[in-house]
Parts: sequence; C-alpha cells; structure tokens
Amino acid sequence: MSSTRDATRRGSGRRALAREPFPLVLCAPSGTGKTTLARELVRRRSDLVFSVSATTRPARAGERDGVDYRFVSDAEFDRLRRTGALLEWARVHTWRYGTPAENLGRAQSAGKHLVLDIDVQGARKVREAVRSAVAVFLLPPGFDALLERLAARGAESERERAQRLRTALAELRAVPEFPYVIVNDRLGGALAALEAILDAERHRLARSRASVGRLAADLAAAVEAHLRAGGRGSTSSAVRSGL
Ligand code: ADP
Ligand code: 5GP
Repeated sequence: MSSTRDATRRGSGRRALAREPFPLVLCAPSGTGKTTLARELVRRRSDLVFSVSATTRPARAGERDGVDYRFVSDAEFDRLRRTGALLEWARVHTWRYGTPAENLGRAQSAGKHLVLDIDVQGARKVREAVRSAVAVFLLPPGFDALLERLAARGAESERERAQRLRTALAELRAVPEFPYVIVNDRLGGALAALEAILDAERHRLARSRASVGRLAADLAAAVEAHLRAGGRGSTSSAVRSGL
C-alpha cells in the first residue's frame, strides 16, 4: 500500500480511544446515602467495581463478609497495616477501616474504575497516592433529612449516632477540598449527577493522551494525503472501495 493510501486508511477507520480507568472516591457525613449511591452506581454500570474495605467494625444485620466489608479482628487489621496491604486506613468513629491495595490493582487490570466509599482522611490519602482519582463529596439536602436517614438505618445506638454527628461536623469542614459536590436529595438525581461526572472525567485528555495523539496524527496524515490528491472524492469512499 502506498504511504498516501496508508495514511488515508488509518485516518478514516473508526477507532475507540484507550482510556485509563481512575478511582472514584465518595465521601459524605454518615447517613447521607453514600453507600446506597455507591452500590446502585456499581449495579448500573459494568465499567465500575466497588472497593470492599477491611474493617474492625462488627457486621450490621444483613451485611455480608467479603461483599459489604471484610470484617477482620484487631490482630488481622494490624497485620494488614504492617505488611503494607492497605492503600490507606483510618480510624472512623470507634472502628478502623482500610482499603486493601489489591482492590486498586485488580480494578486497573480489569480496566474498571474503582468506587471507594471512604471517609475524608482516607480520601486525602487516596488522592495523594493516586493523582488520577476523582473525588466527590455528597451532602444531605438538610439536617432533618440527615437525622431521618440515620434513624431509618436504625443500625446504631443513640450514643453512636451522636458520635457520627460529631464526626460529620469535622467532615463538613473538608467540603472545599473536593472538586465535585452533589446534594443527595432524590436518589435518581444524585445518581444522574454521579454518572455525568464519570462520563465527563473519562473524556479528559490526560486519561488517553497516547491514544489521542495517535488518532490525531493519523487524522492529520489522512487529511494531508487527501489534500495532496487534489481533494477528489471522499476519503472513506476511497477506502471502502479499496483504492
Ligand atoms: P451512608 O453510607 O452515607 O452512611 P446509607 O447509604 O447507609 O448512608 O443511607 C442511610 C439511609 O438513608 C438508608 O436507610 C438509605 O436507604 C437512605 N437513603 C439514601 N439515599 C436516600 C435518598 N436520596 N432519599 C431518601 N433516603 C435515602
Ligand atoms: P460505616 O460504619 O457506616 O459503614 O462507615 C463509617 C465510615 O467509614 C464511612 O464514612 C465510610 O465511608 C468509612 N469507610 C469505609 N471504608 C473505609 C476505608 O476503607 N477507609 C476509610 N478511610 N474509611 C472508610
């Protein structure tokens, strides 16, 4: 094939860009609906995978080991920390929580975005370690809704709920650190906003620089070849007819 036809063929074929997957970090005061949103988002989209954290917290009714969390003893959590098996970890309320580093590796090899439902301290660490991470802060639509949702979950004692609200105070001060903020008023609206963020972030040049570079260079070569040939006929019909 002549180099002119080579350039034409490469430039006119349909190509998808190879895009780097990135972690999506969700933070919110306890009771906002972060876990509900993260789970529903992952259920809807095959390009996402949920990051199952390790925790020393006992399982709530209905929670499954290895699905909602990896429920571990204090000794096992210490071992995970010591051996560098955690990408980040933090004490939240009374318990310790950590993201197994292998979650990120597995998601990346599968070409999927890892969705992390973690606290503000963890979000800072992940954003430092993984520069491509996208962080979203979720807010409840108001204090009454927050109280209602905490009560609806019914998983904590009055004392525990008060402690979660004290933690919420500290977390709310971190809102300005986040590039994206969504109010989880109606679940459907919050989900749509999260999907819009994911879709826009996928198209960042930085996530597919090499692939975009090749496509743009091939397109430029094809345009030049077409112009050199006097601009006769459409490039694609020339390729389709095998000229
Ligand atoms: P978080 O993970 O932020 O602590 P959860 O996902 O456990 O919060 O949600 C707390 C409670 O609020 C749950 O009972 C959940 O069903 C409810 N919830 C979540 N999102 C909404 C929403 N948009 N409207 C009403 N209730 C919600
Ligand atoms: P819960 O006990 O309600 O499931 O979670 C309490 C808090 O711990 C939530 O803010 C949740 O996002 C956070 N959390 C869960 N897993 C992790 C984790 O792996 N790392 C950190 N830093 N926080 C986590």
